[in-house]
Amino acid sequence: MWDGIVIGGGFAGLIAGIRASERGKRILMIAEGTGSLSSSSGVFDIGPIPSLARLEKHPYSYLEPQNIQAAVEYFRSLLPEYEKCEGESSLVLTPLGSCRTADLMPMGLKAEALIQSKEIVLMAPEGMKDFFSRVVKENLEKEFPQSRVEIYPFQVSAFAPWQQVGKAVNGLEFARFWRTEEGIETLQKLLEALVRYIRNQKEAAVVFPGLSRVFNKPLQKLLAHFPCPIIEMTDIPPTFGGEILYDALKRKFKEFGGEIILGSGVRKVDIQGKNCFQVWVKSKGSDSNFQAKELVLATGGSSEGGSKRLRME
Ligand SMILES: Cc1cc2nc3c(=O)[nH]c(=O)nc-3n(C[C@H](O)[C@H](O)[C@H](O)COP(=O)(O)OP(=O)(O)OC[C@H]3O[C@@H](n4cnc5c(N)ncnc54)[C@H](O)[C@@H]3O)c2cc1C
Repeated sequence: MWDGIVIGGGFAGLIAGIRASERGKRILMIAEGTGSLSSSSGVFDIGPIPSLARLEKHPYSYLEPQNIQAAVEYFRSLLPEYEKCEGESSLVLTPLGSCRTADLMPMGLKAEALIQSKEIVLMAPEGMKDFFSRVVKENLEKEFPQSRVEIYPFQVSAFAPWQQVGKAVNGLEFARFWRTEEGIETLQKLLEALVRYIRNQKEAAVVFPGLSRVFNKPLQKLLAHFPCPIIEMTDIPPTFGGEILYDALKRKFKEFGGEIILGSGVRKVDIQGKNCFQVWVKSKGSDSNFQAKELVLATGGSSEGGSKRLRME
């Protein structure tokens, strides 16, 4: 018998699973799919907690503000490469170059440096799917009117064969590429050319779509040596920011000894007394069942129907 079964492997299920398994519990997670995390930006909107908690039906209205704060601190203790904003929310760039606020985000996304800049260089990878450099430039000009925005087009030769056969390369594929050895070398050469291009390095900032430095030391080191701030953008689904957060949480859960059955839906739960749950799983046509002393229901709802399809008896 398991100490606990977590049904659902999205953000809520993963955090619940990590929390229980790090306390020494034997936890099994059963998830039909990956949930909505892998399509989200990986940036968290927490907002001014006391005001959100007062909004009727907002999820935060069910929680005490200090518990929300404690959850944020816990998340950062798990993944310190996520930055928290002290006081006011921070600015991050949307995929179209306008600004939104966020409270907890992977390193590299904070866009405050753009407020001080006089020159913004917008990196424009040729052939990047759904990246509209002119629209992004216009929005950056509206958001940061004190700054001149210039588009810096560049090609990545590693993607040329794809593009020759008409295959568009999305931001997620670019972000994965920059983390490879070949990607780091290509980026180094690109940044060397960029340094020569920028007129006044003290007042410039670079905006770079399809790039993510979180959890990658070589990339972080390379970007830290660049003389101006390099600001990443959030991306549209399929998002690298969501994918990398999902992978990081799954890895943590497994490090603490958690086990996962992915791709199988729970169809029914029998409650057999106060501390015994029997969980029925349908996989490839056959039924199997698992017993646990405790159950966490984390079936979400926004992406895959959630608890509506689960029967408790
Ligand atoms: C496109 C998109 C963008 C978003 N952007 C942001 C953002 O920028 N910032 C932000 O803060 N939030 C964002 N969100 C919201 C955020 O991603 C979600 O609130 C959060 O991920 C929900 O997590 P969850 O674990 O509750 O649910 P889900 O992610 O929906 O996970 C539910 C899990 O339960 C599983 N499941 C369901 N039924 C069963 C069953 N019967 N048996 C077994 N498993 C089952 C699913 O397969 C999945 O693993 C975004 C959401 C989407 C869809």
